[in-house]
Amino acid sequence: MSKVGIYPGSFDPITYGHLDIIQRSLHVVDKLIIAVSNNKSKKHLISVDQRLELIEKSIQDLPTDDQKRIEIEKFDNLLVHYVKSKKSSVIIRGLRAVSDFEYEFLMTGMNRSIDNEIETIFLMSSEKYHFISSRFIKEIHSLGGDISKSVPKPVLDFLSKI
Ligand code: ADP
Repeated sequence: MSKVGIYPGSFDPITYGHLDIIQRSLHVVDKLIIAVSNNKSKKHLISVDQRLELIEKSIQDLPTDDQKRIEIEKFDNLLVHYVKSKKSSVIIRGLRAVSDFEYEFLMTGMNRSIDNEIETIFLMSSEKYHFISSRFIKEIHSLGGDISKSVPKPVLDFLSKI
């Protein structure tokens, strides 16, 4: 039976850090669904459909065999319900620094209290991507800084137009 993993996030925008986690997660699951959160209570710079499109374009650089095992979808319901609806029981999350830990710890606990059969797997990105976050990317870009080492080309092109 093939194992389906769900990688949820805002991806506002997708970065090389996310791409690294995507590739690593394909060592753990057979199929990965990148689930783009359409949570209306969170303020996003980029619309959910544009975020999906940027992910779609950005994964084109991955090996074809990896691409075939990836799906990209938006979701706006409770994550555990979404995971179940995809017949999955595995959530993938990335960890950078200790600062990520508390939020992820709480979220995993909350999800577990709703559905104890769903497991969250944490993966660490490569060292060179530890400091990349979508939030900083947006800040640096808005102040005219160079973000070309942190985001794939489609994101760079998109941000340079807005
Ligand atoms: P969210 O708003 O759900 O945290 P993000 O798009 O910011 O969505 O992140 C999605 C997941 O990817 C989170 O688990 C986050 O910790 C992880 N992540 C983001 N950037 C990196 C990175 N540079 N290295 C490792 N994990 C990362």
